[in-house]
Parts: sequence; structure tokens; C-alpha cells
Amino acid sequence: MRNQGLGSWALRRARSTPHRTALVAGNDELTYARLAERSTRLAHALRSMGTGPGDRVAYLGPNAPSFVETMFAVHLLGAVFVPLNTRLTAAELSFQLDDCGASVLLYDVRHDEVVRQLRVAAAPVTVTIGGDPAAAGYETRLRAASAELIDEPVGHADPAMILYTSGTTGRPKGAVLTHGNVIWNCLNVLIEIDITGDEVTLVSAPLFHVAALNMTLLPTLLKGGRAVLMTGWDVESCFDLVERHRVTWMFGVPTMFADLARASRWSSADLSSIRSLLAGGASVPTSLIAAYQERGLRFLQGYGLTEAGPGALIVTADMSTVKVGAAGVPHFFSDVRLAGPGPDGGGTEGELLISSPTVMAGYWGRPDATAAAVTDDGWIRTGDVARVDDDGYYSIVGRLKEMYISGGENVYPAEVETALLLHPAVAECAVIGVPDERWGEVGRAFVRLNPDRPAAEQELLAFLDGRLARYKIPKTVRFVDELPRTGSGKIHRGLLR
Ligand code: AMP
Repeated sequence: MRNQGLGSWALRRARSTPHRTALVAGNDELTYARLAERSTRLAHALRSMGTGPGDRVAYLGPNAPSFVETMFAVHLLGAVFVPLNTRLTAAELSFQLDDCGASVLLYDVRHDEVVRQLRVAAAPVTVTIGGDPAAAGYETRLRAASAELIDEPVGHADPAMILYTSGTTGRPKGAVLTHGNVIWNCLNVLIEIDITGDEVTLVSAPLFHVAALNMTLLPTLLKGGRAVLMTGWDVESCFDLVERHRVTWMFGVPTMFADLARASRWSSADLSSIRSLLAGGASVPTSLIAAYQERGLRFLQGYGLTEAGPGALIVTADMSTVKVGAAGVPHFFSDVRLAGPGPDGGGTEGELLISSPTVMAGYWGRPDATAAAVTDDGWIRTGDVARVDDDGYYSIVGRLKEMYISGGENVYPAEVETALLLHPAVAECAVIGVPDERWGEVGRAFVRLNPDRPAAEQELLAFLDGRLARYKIPKTVRFVDELPRTGSGKIHRGLLR
């Protein structure tokens, strides 16, 4: 087999553990043999639609076997997988499809409406998943295709996926992760979290997020474990699935773990099968850590970012008793340092830089943005300010980049402000994140109105609906006569806070 990419995993697993269950979705179970066969058929179907090495294939849909099949099929062909965030509006999705130049878009029929509203310069071929079984959609194409082995040469340096994430400018950029990046990231996870072949992983976060995909699903499939897919976040079904499938581990953002700990079923649910839980993507409140430790659960915390594959720092269980609230120590194959004033950095506080075989190849089609994000010797600038203690534990203490995190989703104020400024009443605005018990942070907009054009809070928020994904829309608007400025004329966000 010449294919050294992720697509070959399905085939290799089909050889070594064909009858083991790879995926569980609702009442359906898919063995590794079946996953390999369906991925191969889909690869033939995609090839007949013109997909070849290096082409971009986008996917829009909730967690489902078709997500995994599409990813492996794309990788069997040496093409590049582009999972899209299902919460985005048609305008936001159109931008990403244009940016990566996707030639094919596979989408769940539940997103029919938004797909119809897409405005993409070179419209991709679309394939519907679900819906009318007689239509020429996903299943029909898959059934009609050959199951003959596909063995395209794919190497570790070849791009595997493009994951959209925003930078300080608020314009989304596609982080390109190679097959090698993902493999090294999986190795880090296997080492730090001890994933085994009898793992039952609950994939509770959406797979278009790097953490769900590269920290939970892929390490599980690499080891031949079983991944239970959740289609959307729901506390009751989370407890149901843990009990029914004897789930051994899951990743979640702090908001999800807080939801569970607050639920009435928290004290009665049978969590005895769980070996470890990993919270990350935003800082983890110490009260949350305490709640899980009191319940006798191994509660790990992690820090990472899309551009780093994503895992970079981790607090494993043994440490968390002594280091509550830290983001962790570097993963086995990752190095971190703090950018300080001296030539070698140094010091105990500064911007966190990461060097690791997991760090992205660059931003898709954006050499300038890549050069700004990665140092000449290959360290990625995270835009996060960290502090390190005497024992080598890092904590995230601030951010250089303008960003806040709401329920695990990053929100870039610049993007929200750009959308708000389109409203004729808005003369000037600034958006910041303010603390929120449920979501960690929520947006608050400060707006100076045009003197001749009044507008109420509801009008402005309704204006954003449809222009921005819901999680990006501020919860409140404060009207001001003037926005505070720094000496250089930039909006003084510290004062707004
Ligand atoms: P993303 O690329 O969507 O994974 O977002 C990455 C960003 O989330 C990081 O640059 C951090 O700002 C933030 N983040 C991730 N994990 C943590 C953590 N454990 N503590 C604080 N911030 C975090």
C-alpha cells in the first residue's frame, strides 16, 4: 500500500480488526471492514466526479458515519478534506468555499436551505446526504461505485485537511494540516491519554472542530476502538449514551462539562465506565475541576489551537490534584516557549510559541498570514499569553489576539463589528466578551449611533441574524456617545471591559 495517509487507516484496520465496531450512530453500527468498503466506494464515486489528488472536497453536516466515510474517501484519493461549521450562514460558508476552491460539496439534507442560498464563484458539484432515497444522492452514488482497492500515493507532507479559523483580522483563514501533522497529533494523544483498542469514545463535540476530529475520533480509530457519534449536544442523551455504550472517554468544552455537572441526573447517572474526560478549548473553571474530582473522575485539561493540530499542553490526572487551573505541560512530541524581550525569549510570562511536528503547513493561499503566524525557525505564534511556574506548568493568562470564546466557539470582535457597521444607524462600534455563567463569555456591543438615525437594541441584533452565525451575535448592546480610545487612536477595549 503506497498510501501513507489517513485514508489508508480504514483499509489497514479492515485488515487487522475487520469485525470490530468502528462507529456507532443511533442504532446503527459500522465495522471497520464496512467503513473501509464504504469509504472506498465513495472514493470511486468522487473520482468519477473528477476529484483527484490535491482537490478540495467540502463537507457540511452533523456528526455521522458519512462524515468519516467522506474524509477517508477524500484521503484515499490524495484530495483535501474541508469540514465546514454547520452553524455558519450562507454568506460565511460561501466565503470559505470560494477561498479553498472546493470542487465538490457533500451536505446533509438538513442544510438544504443554506446550500440553496450559497453564492460561490465556481459553484462546487453538490451531493445530498439523506432525504429522498430515490434521488441521485450519497447512498445511490456509493452503491453504484466499485469497491476495488484505491492506492494513490499519499505522503505525510501532503495536505489532509483545511480547517477554517479566524485570525486577528476576523477574516477566516484555512489552516492546512498535513497527514503527518494529524498522525503526530494522534501519537501525542495516545501517549498522554492512554487510548486503547477497547476504547469507547463519545464524540460529543462537532467533528468540524479540530478537537473532536483530531483529539477524539482519529486517535480512537487509529487504535481500533469504537467511536459513538452524537449528532448534537444534549445533556440527557449524553448520559444515555454513556450508560448504554459504557463510554470510556470523551472530550468537551467547559460549557458541556458544566451542563452535565448541573443536571439533575448528575448524581444518579452511572459513570463507572469512564476512564478519563478531557476539557479544553477554553479555560477550565476550577470549580468545574473540583466537581468532577469529587465524583471520582479522571478529569484532564488541555490547551491547543487549530494551527497546532491542535493539542499542545495537557494536565493529566495525577497533576491536576496539585495544579488546578493550569493549561498544562507540553505534549510528548511538542515543545513550547515564551516569547520574551531577550533574543532567546525566556522569562516566565509572554506569548506562547509552539514547535511541533503537529504544527500546520500554513494558511491556505495566504503566504503573508502564514509568515506572520510562524517564525522563520518554525515556531507558531499562538496569540495567547502564558505564564510558566517553577515546575514547568503553563497557564493561559491573557490574549494578544482580539478574541473571546462563547460556549467553546471562538468569536472575533472584528468580524462582528464589520457586520454591525453595515447597519445604517451604526456610526461606530466595538464588541467585547463579558463573563457569562453558562457560556463562559458572551458578546456585548458598544455602539455609537448616527445622530440622524435612531435604532434600538433589538433592531441591531435582528440585523445580525442571518449575517452571522448565532453564537457570534452579541447578547446585549450598550449605546454610548463616544468610544474610549488609546493614545494611538485604537479603541480602548480594556476600558470598555
Ligand atoms: P481553536 O483554534 O478554535 O481551537 O481555538 C484556539 C484558541 O482557544 C487558543 O488560541 C486559545 O486562545 C483558546 N484556548 C484553547 N484551549 C484553552 C485553554 N485550555 N485555556 C484557555 N484558552 C484556551
